[in-house]
Formats: sequence, structure tokens, C-alpha cells
Amino acid sequence: MVVGILSRRRSLYTTRRLAESALRLGHEARVLNPLHCVLVLSRRAPEVYYRGLESRVSDLDVVLPRIGASITEHGLAVVNQFDMMGVPLVNNSQPIARSRDKLRSLQLLARAGIDIPKTVMASDPTQIHRALEIVGGPPAVLKVVKGTQGIGVILAETEQAALTVLETFWNLGMNILVQEFIEESEGRDVRAFVVGDRVVTAMRRQASIGEFRSNVHRGGTGMVVELEESYRRAALEASARPRARADMSLKIGGREIRRGTVEQIHLKASEYYTATPVNVPVIVIRGAERGPTLFLTAAIHGDELNGVEIVRRVMTGYNAQQIRGTLICVPVVNRVGFLTHTRYLPGRRDLNRYFPGDPLGNAAARYAHALFTEIVTRSRYGVDLHTASLGRTNLPHVRADMASRDVRKLARAFGTEIIIDSPGPPRTLRHAATAAGVPTIIFESGETFRFQRNMVARGVAGVRSVLAVLGMTTDHRKEPRFRVIVKVSEWVRSVKGGIADILVRPGEIIYAGEEIASITNPFGREVSMVRSPLTGLIIGITTMPMVNPGDAICHIAKLEKTLATVETFCVTDSRGKKMLLA
Ligand SMILES: [Zn+2]
Repeated sequence: MVVGILSRRRSLYTTRRLAESALRLGHEARVLNPLHCVLVLSRRAPEVYYRGLESRVSDLDVVLPRIGASITEHGLAVVNQFDMMGVPLVNNSQPIARSRDKLRSLQLLARAGIDIPKTVMASDPTQIHRALEIVGGPPAVLKVVKGTQGIGVILAETEQAALTVLETFWNLGMNILVQEFIEESEGRDVRAFVVGDRVVTAMRRQASIGEFRSNVHRGGTGMVVELEESYRRAALEASARPRARADMSLKIGGREIRRGTVEQIHLKASEYYTATPVNVPVIVIRGAERGPTLFLTAAIHGDELNGVEIVRRVMTGYNAQQIRGTLICVPVVNRVGFLTHTRYLPGRRDLNRYFPGDPLGNAAARYAHALFTEIVTRSRYGVDLHTASLGRTNLPHVRADMASRDVRKLARAFGTEIIIDSPGPPRTLRHAATAAGVPTIIFESGETFRFQRNMVARGVAGVRSVLAVLGMTTDHRKEPRFRVIVKVSEWVRSVKGGIADILVRPGEIIYAGEEIASITNPFGREVSMVRSPLTGLIIGITTMPMVNPGDAICHIAKLEKTLATVETFCVTDSRGKKMLLA
């Protein structure tokens, strides 16, 4: 194959590397300077001549454009000419032109629902104050709309500095973007290279010390990285053809859901042996306006009911005009267990250990597969609602993998005081969805077989806050009084078998050495006193007094630095115990 590389100099590092790779793969590489290409247009087929009109370029099998910003216009004309000649191009002129225009790029990314820094295009000095306010600055980043290699990118630390810089640029007739400064990026960014629908490689760039721009041309360094799933997905979404996405329809269970409608769907997840389908009820609220898609699931464990009521209250609270994007609600995921009053699917299979499922696997794996393909992969984010398992109760809290930026955003948005930082067991809905690029959190509250009013109210408020933070509604986000991100939690177990008198409640602070439960035998004699090995907050307890040796009695979130904070939000009860105010 003859590979044409459009580049001004064959000695440029990137050009040289591309040519070397082509040779190594057994191809011929030819570097063509776009400025030396002569374009001939006539009634017959379009032609390209190189260095004068003597040699016609006719034998290229593919063209890799490397068009420098300084010759964009001429370069793109050459690219278009090859396109018209039917020569395959790695990128044609439209994406190259779009990538050169930072404002246009942001518009396209925003329309596709991709997370971008807040950006304002300001055009006169009276707007500066408000523009800085919108992007949460100062500091704020100022960018020339058409700039590359980090030139024309300035960090303005104060409003006065921003004003000075902007006035200079405006006087030169340049358009400037005022952009949110992402401090936590710490001068790092990630570049992903997408070919077709695959991320082929990625690099992390790190700015040199004292520099916030990570461009290699500004002294930054680069290294190869393995991309986290959410990054991979963002890269694929950002590079997908915009038209295809704009027309993307939403289909669930074979049913088309139009914008601005609410649909009720019976999603077939399995079959009963009575030759009737196991239909899972799905309610989709698809707003007229574009925005993210969030799934909301409950009763994946058929006996955990608080979530069923949380979903009902959330979904009946909005119509299609009040939602931007799409809310997919599944109030009863495990319909079989819900009907038979159990956590499980038949055969005591825990549905929440079979995701993402398998169309050829056992009954639970197939059930999980149907839900994963029809609900999870159609979504951008997810919230899964649980209670403690049978015989236990939980303080309301969120569980989330705080190592992932998007999951962190959801977890904080939910607004609970307690977040347990963990990726969750493998093959849970949360774990599998997050791994597939659909950041998902779970909300835990209360116990099985009940609708607990206060637990439901907290769940509803949390989901509504998530919708607000994702820009899906105009509600306000919920801010907790304090926030503890729990890294370590421990189940305290009974050493002896017996009948337990539990002395603690969820929401109580327990100090190392304090009593948790007195275990007596049926003759009435105390055989053991369970004491806490650590200081922390009680986030779950057993509600069943019958304990075997090794049974979990109480779940404690370890508190260290945050202990004092939590104590200030507690009241002291008649037994002298410190308890969080509800
Ligand atoms: Zn559960």
C-alpha cells in the first residue's frame, strides 16, 4: 500500500514516526507538503499535481493529513481534493476544521451530552464580571478561539488580570473564551486516540512545574496510560459522528420512545414455566430537551421495598416537560423475588451477582443480561436503590467507587452524610455498570419488607438532587450538614451462639471497648458481651436476636479525623450515648 502523509516537513518527529511505522508494516510512505500540491479542477476528475504540473499524484491508497494550524485553509483544500478523488483519508476536512475551532468543538461536545468545562464567549468589558461568575472564577482560563500548542491560553488569577488580557485580545480582533479552571487536573490531561469505534491508545500529559498548560510544546511530558472506562467512553462519544448521534433514537424492549413523552413498557426479562413472560415494568420519562440519561432501579433484591416507593415518588413527580434528558425508572427489577417475597431469583440465586449477564448463561445470568442491555447500556448514569438484607437495618448512606470522577460526582450529588467508598463486589449491577462506562452508585436505607417513611423521603431527596446536579431538572442540589467518606468499615461478629440483646442503634457513635450486645443462653445466663474493637459510627445492625457464632451483629464505619465533626451533629440521649440527629 502507498501511504501518503500530508505534512510540511518529513523531518518533523510525528511525521517521521508515521513514515517509519508504515515502512515497518511493509507499506510505502510518501510525505507530501500540502503547499507544494497543485490542485487541478476541470470537468473531468479532480487531480493533484506535486511540485509543478509535471508529476501527477495518482497512486496513493490512503492519506494521513497532518495539517498545521498555520496552513489550515490551504491544507484543507488539499484534503478535500483527495476526498473528491476517492482516496480514503484518516480524517476528512470537516473534523479537522471543527477541531481547530475551540468554540465549535465545545458546542458539538455539549450537544452530545459530554461533560465540558463551563465556558463563556464574552465580547465586551461589561460582561467580564458576570462571565467570571458563571465559570466559578477567578481564577479562570482565557483561550483564543483559534489557537494551538497552548499558545493563547492564559490563566487569569484576578478579575483585573482577566480584563487586561481580554482588552488586549479584543483590540487585536480575536475572539476569546472564558473557561472554568479545573484545579484538580493539576496540569494533567489525557489524550485518547480513536480509530473507528476503538480507543487504540492514550497518553497522559503532565505540565512542567509552575505551568498549568500540559502541552508538550510548553515543556510538558507524556506517558502511555490505560484508560479508565469512563474516559474511554467519553473519547468514543466525542469522536462519534455527530449526525448519527443527533438522530439516535431510544428504544427499550423494541419500543421507540420519542422526545417529550412518558412511556410504560413491559420489558421481558425471562419466562415462567407456565408459558407466561416475566415482564419487568419500566417507565421512561424522555424530556423534550436533550440531556443525560439516568437509570433508577429498585428491588433487585425482591424483598427490599423502600426503593420501590422512592422510584414511585420520583417518577410521579415529573412530566416530560420538567426533565432534560431521559429518566429510566425500574421500580421492581427482580419481579420474581418481589412476587414470592424473597431477595432471590428461583434457586436462591442473587440477581445482583450476575451482571452484566450472559445470554447463554443460567436463568439469573440471562435475566441480568436482558436488563443490562435494555436499561444500563442505554444510560449515561445509574442509581440503584437497596435496603439492608433480611434481618438487618441500615443508616441511610451511599456506596460508591470514589476513585472514579463521575461516580464521585453522583455520590456527592446524592447529598447523604455518609458515603462508603468501595467499588462493590464484582458482578453487582453497580460494579458492572461502572465498568461498562455507566457510572453508578447505590443508596442503602432501612430494612426489608417495609415502606419506611423517613428512609423513603431521604431517597427521594437524594435522587432529586442527583437530577438537579446533572442538569436534568431545575431543582436545587441537596447539601448535607457534613460529609464523611468512609474508607474503612467493619462488621463486628458474635463469638458465641445465643440470644442477643443489642444495645446500639444505627446513627450512634460507638467508642472502642464499648458494649454492643449482650449474648445470653436460653437458661438466662449471659455467655458473652460483644464490645467494639474500634471507634466509629454505627451504620447497620442485625434486627434478629438469634445469633450463631460468627454472625454479624453490627456494621461500624471507622471515624478518625472526622470524629469530632460528627460528634458536633449528635445529641446525647438518656443513656449518655451520642446519636446523630435524624
Ligand atoms: Zn440489596
